This record gives sequence, C-alpha cells and structure tokens, in this order.
Amino acid sequence: MNDRQLLLMAKDASEKAYAPYSRFFVGAALECEDGSVYTGCNVENAALGSSMCAERVAMYKAISEGNQEFKRMAIYCDSESYCMPCGACRQVMGEFSEELELLCAKGSGSYVSYKLSELLPHAFKFRDF
Ligand code: ZN
Repeated sequence: MNDRQLLLMAKDASEKAYAPYSRFFVGAALECEDGSVYTGCNVENAALGSSMCAERVAMYKAISEGNQEFKRMAIYCDSESYCMPCGACRQVMGEFSEELELLCAKGSGSYVSYKLSELLPHAFKFRDF
C-alpha cells in the first residue's frame, strides 16, 4: 500500500466522524506490519472528556483485534494546516512503536511525514523505572 492509498483511507474515515461540537472531522488509517489496515474517526460527546480521537480509535481497533505491530498511520482532516496527533495519541502510539511513521495531511491532500520519535522525544515508558 502506498502513501496515497493510506491517506485516502484516512480521508474516507474522516467522513464518518461524529464531531457536532468542534466540527473538526478527523480520520486515521493505521497500517500494521502484516499489511492489515484499521481506520478510525473522532467521536465526540456532550461530556467532552468522553470524546475520543480518530488515531486512538484506529489503534484500539487494531489492538482489540490482536494486532500490536504498528507500521504507519495516515491522519487526515479537511483543514488548512496539517493534522497532527495530540499528545495523548502520541503517548499511546509510543507504547507500541517508537518508530511509527506518521503521514499528516490537510484538506488539500498534501501531507508531511514524521517518525513518532521526532514528535515525542524522550517518551514516558514504564520500563524506565
Ligand atoms: Zn489525539
């Protein structure tokens, strides 16, 4: 699967987002080492703390299906700036893959790519104790 295909899956997932409060519709597509892909969208709630990001929905879907070998994740939102993962999502990503490749897109379809270690240096790890 190439970058464009993964980004298109993230864009398609963004169309399923439930975001009546922020109107910020995000989609994510997580490719695992075995080639399987899990998608997610953000899901908001009137009790805002109960909301969940698209990236974590995709990761939790993969984990709940027994897949913890993350390779790449595409993130899309129809915005003017690149859609970057929040701090909480970066921490969850780091639990499974410090070298996860992230493709962060914006509405025009252009994207930037990073390794998670660039976005979350010196990540908190339980094994550090
Ligand atoms: Zn997040």
